[in-house]
Amino acid sequence: MSSFPKIMVVGAGVNGLCCGITLLEGGFTEVEIIAEDLSPHTTSDIAAAIWRPSHMQNEHLAKWCETSLSQLMLLSKNTHSGVSWVTRTEFYREFTSPVWQNLVEHVKPAAKMPAAYQHMLSYKVPLMDTTIYMDYLINSFVKLGGKINQEKIKAWQDIKAADVIVNCSGLGALDLAKDESVYPIRGQVVVVERPARFTASIAAPEDFIYIIARKNDCIVGGTAEKNDWHTKPDPKIAKQIMAQAAEIYPAITKQKIIGHKVGLRPGRPSVRLESDWDSQGRLLIHNYGHGGAGHSLSWGCAKAVLELILFGN
Ligand SMILES: Cc1cc2nc3c(=O)[nH]c(=O)nc-3n(C[C@H](O)[C@H](O)[C@H](O)COP(=O)(O)OP(=O)(O)OC[C@H]3O[C@@H](n4cnc5c(N)ncnc54)[C@H](O)[C@@H]3O)c2cc1C
Repeated sequence: MSSFPKIMVVGAGVNGLCCGITLLEGGFTEVEIIAEDLSPHTTSDIAAAIWRPSHMQNEHLAKWCETSLSQLMLLSKNTHSGVSWVTRTEFYREFTSPVWQNLVEHVKPAAKMPAAYQHMLSYKVPLMDTTIYMDYLINSFVKLGGKINQEKIKAWQDIKAADVIVNCSGLGALDLAKDESVYPIRGQVVVVERPARFTASIAAPEDFIYIIARKNDCIVGGTAEKNDWHTKPDPKIAKQIMAQAAEIYPAITKQKIIGHKVGLRPGRPSVRLESDWDSQGRLLIHNYGHGGAGHSLSWGCAKAVLELILFGN
């Protein structure tokens, strides 16, 4: 490997793009992304996407979440990034004391607690409006000198001109990395017109209900169906989503429905972030399997990828 290896990142979802940017900012000069689907056709585009440290059960995930939070704080200062701070209010049936409490600024809850719930938590978190954020990431990568090619690869050997490969293929890793522990977690959402003066995010995490206001619309969710590959929105499920959402914010049913979306989260028992070698002896870094937290982990994982290439394990 020369002192300036050529790096090929597979995947143009949030993880591939954050890796591409981090590698270029980290001093590598030749970084390309190759991807079958580009924005707005990736799972990352469908995501709500709020930084929510739901995956903080182990040391690595906590670090990746925290690093991502710091980076998103910086990005929120740029009004063109699509990252902004929102107040998130969560309703719970039982008392909860999340381990990530100390990382976020708590605020006084403004919403009224719906009858079915006993506890509420309100805090400020970054929201990535993917209709703006994904373009922002692509433009940042290209401005730094990165190149993007749209192509499906079947095997690592298909990638000819690269010294290092970074695998950010999400659900695609099932075939590409022959990793049978990867599975889809189907997420359906309804996109509605944003209610006037509604700028927050409210949710009932135990019941998988969330309403997230973005700049031009509002995402109402959701579902998490394991091993369901159907990408067509189901009208019955859409009705259920709206009915459930009305339990925490009744006015939502009055909003005009703009669209229905489905994304397949890349499920895996845990995120795979480690070094490997392909059959040609090239360094192959895996970074996939982020489930429902890809946006929350992305920058932290990208930094870990950079460190693996620079310093090894
Ligand atoms: C409804 C919904 C709501 C969500 N809400 C949140 C949230 O609030 N917060 C949060 O943190 N996360 C959320 N997520 C999860 C988040 O969207 C995912 O974890 C994240 O998008 C995964 O990103 P990724 O880059 O790894 O994969 P993807 O976005 O799926 O991108 C994978 C890329 O790899 C490419 N690829 C795959 N196979 C190949 C191949 N063989 N050859 C070439 N290219 C290939 C694809 O074309 C694509 O470009 C949500 C997801 C859904 C569906």
